[in-house]
Amino acid sequence: MRRPSEEDWAAVVARQPRDGVIAVRTTGVVCRFGCPARTPLRHNVMIFATCDDAVAAGFRLCKRCWRNVRKCQENPVKPG
Ligand SMILES: [Zn+2]
Repeated sequence: MRRPSEEDWAAVVARQPRDGVIAVRTTGVVCRFGCPARTPLRHNVMIFATCDDAVAAGFRLCKRCWRNVRKCQENPVKPG
């Protein structure tokens, strides 16, 4: 888990694919890079290496990124 780097944040804002996931502390939701949802405030964002790491930390999956499935692995579609 890390604070977003400049590269991370640029990818969040541009909704570009990137390794890792975006966890938003205020909403408790974890998103993939590229999620079409509203861009969170940077100081609320943490980056996890994997979806499983974020879930283990208590975050739940974004419905738009994971299409209402409940497991990180069940994600055959790209967001958007
Ligand atoms: Zn999302």
